[in-house]
Amino acid sequence: MPIGAQYLEVAAHLADVCRSCGRDPHDVKLIAVSKTVEAPRIQEAIDAGAHVFGENRPDQIMDRHARYPHEEWHFIGNVQSRRIKDIVPCAALIHSVYEEHHLARIERAAQEAGKVQDILIEVNVSGEESKGGAAPQEVPRLLRATEAFDHVRVRGLMTMAPQGDLDVAERCFADLRELRDRMRVEWDSPDAAFLSELSMGMSEDWERAVAQGATMVRIGRAIFSEDFA
Ligand SMILES: *Cc1c(COP(=O)(O)O)cnc(C)c1O
Repeated sequence: MPIGAQYLEVAAHLADVCRSCGRDPHDVKLIAVSKTVEAPRIQEAIDAGAHVFGENRPDQIMDRHARYPHEEWHFIGNVQSRRIKDIVPCAALIHSVYEEHHLARIERAAQEAGKVQDILIEVNVSGEESKGGAAPQEVPRLLRATEAFDHVRVRGLMTMAPQGDLDVAERCFADLRELRDRMRVEWDSPDAAFLSELSMGMSEDWERAVAQGATMVRIGRAIFSEDFA
């Protein structure tokens, strides 16, 4: 199926799943993860109505943001200190922040770019060693650290679930939501956008994530791969 048709199918399916769990489809943002395709293929998704994209490499988000400046670009990859200055001017949202020492660099880059950088804290809910993210118990310390920076705004939490067992994945999504809910009570922030976002769910497991309160799903293969079943 062409990319445009795959995008439309995922978008329609997402709206159905939202309705079936009593949620408004407008409350869940579909992020088309374009990291595996050549840049010109992205146009096919744009033509079908995609306007929010996820990239995991600094060079790629820079290139694609320059090529398609009217679309919304999210950085979902591993953050490295020396690339923060490259990512910040392109990224509407950085999903994958979990090192305290990156915050000062993001602050400086955002100030230079004349913006407030929205970020999510990536949480390693499952504790798998191969995964990035802060341990759940480190999240309060990270949130406290962000308070020192005027150009960094924490919009929520992000996680990647273990692959292979959807019930395990769903438990992980529920745990992230519970952590977010606890942090919101603890912080009692006057900013309604504070921790309002939950970025969770990928091609294999996004339906479970939506059921557990995801406000953003990051979908790559189901949109861009020819052989995702
Ligand atoms: C690649 C990637 C995705 C998309 O994964 P698919 O399984 O292709 O949908 C989502 N989130 C992150 C962080 C990724 O690196």
